[in-house]
Amino acid sequence: MKVLVLNSGSSSIKYQLFRSEDWVALASGSVSRIGEPEGEIKAEWLDASGIRQSGRARVTIPTHQDGIDRIVKALHETRVLGDVSELAVIGHRVVHGGEHFKHPTIVDDAVAEAIQGVVPLAPLHNPAHLAGIEVARRLFPTVPSVAVFDTAFHQTMPRTAYRYAIPEWLYREHRIRRYGFHGTSHYYVAKRAAAMLDRPLETCNLITLHLGNGSSATAIRDGKSVDTSMGLTPLEGLVMGTRCGDIDPAIHFYLAKNLGLEIDAIEDLLNRQSGLLGICGVNDMREIDRLAEEGNDAAELAIGITAHRIKKYIGAYSAELGRVDAVVFTGGIGENAAEIRCRACEGLENLGIKMDDTANYALEGRGERCISTPESTVQVLVIPTNEELEIAQQALAATSEAPCDGLSETFRVGG
Ligand code: AMP
Repeated sequence: MKVLVLNSGSSSIKYQLFRSEDWVALASGSVSRIGEPEGEIKAEWLDASGIRQSGRARVTIPTHQDGIDRIVKALHETRVLGDVSELAVIGHRVVHGGEHFKHPTIVDDAVAEAIQGVVPLAPLHNPAHLAGIEVARRLFPTVPSVAVFDTAFHQTMPRTAYRYAIPEWLYREHRIRRYGFHGTSHYYVAKRAAAMLDRPLETCNLITLHLGNGSSATAIRDGKSVDTSMGLTPLEGLVMGTRCGDIDPAIHFYLAKNLGLEIDAIEDLLNRQSGLLGICGVNDMREIDRLAEEGNDAAELAIGITAHRIKKYIGAYSAELGRVDAVVFTGGIGENAAEIRCRACEGLENLGIKMDDTANYALEGRGERCISTPESTVQVLVIPTNEELEIAQQALAATSEAPCDGLSETFRVGG
């Protein structure tokens, strides 16, 4: 059987098709610029001889329905999908599940309504995910659609970690609390780390660092998330491509009162003009590395602030966990930027972290690897993430695990 994974954004849909017998990715790609005069479809697929092929075409894609139609047509034309009956399930990435969803959940009308109910917490993401889900359910009424939530893995956090020190009614009436994101990635690399450590995930204490355009750190005790750096929204925590991460909340008042900025301008400033971009004018870490090597002071500072913030979280989560078995780097920056890894971990010998610089800076061996010395009591691991594979596997598992309990715990206040 085959599993289709869809990640629907407001103007694009990314997809990946897996064969469930061996979890080989048969095809992947995207449709983009939905609703614009000219859109684009990009596709990669394995041909009959198992050789990777690729193609792209400019097409008009007026709606999400047209986008998913195009994807299915491309899957048929490239012969990776024969009949729709080959599809066991469609897994949908959903950024925000609020407190409703602690597990991947088969979408029916009530579940769709509950995802709609979380829209105020993720106004940019959830409506786009719902558009994709609704089209998939309409086009393929016989194939279950399963929502896999970025927030679900973090629903095990204790309230001491997820509550903010703001008036209680804001939580009680408006559910303002820490939710955390990137949960699918943190969970995937945690499972891979447990395999590398050769012990059950349920016995592992880990600090997982997903460092990409968006970045977050998670403290994992006995295989479960107990704290994470992103909060009500993905703005809190580490320094990101264009997001500021942790700042003094009073900066917002200062900007409003003294610079006369409107709330939308402040939101834009902190979400889209800050982070690496704000510090040095560039948000691509490869370019920042290059500029720093040339002696560019702002690029050097961007690397410094980013690494300093990661180190603070490693320290804080080490204190929270007590015993740490491994620190895991993943995401575009975590997997590739050796300098960030080096600076984030240097001087942490007291925490049991001792980096092997040769392994860290080695150019070959880009897969899963250990970059700490044999004496390091905390292993430092680099593990490429694979959120699509995790979504595919969770979606398939959800169809064979009954009953699906996503809604049964609706509005349960965590302990
Ligand atoms: P992601 O959001 O996980 O795709 O990660 C995107 C980030 O990874 C961007 O800042 C890229 O510049 C960074 N990145 C990707 N490849 C490399 C590399 N080889 N060295 C440094 N940074 C990289």
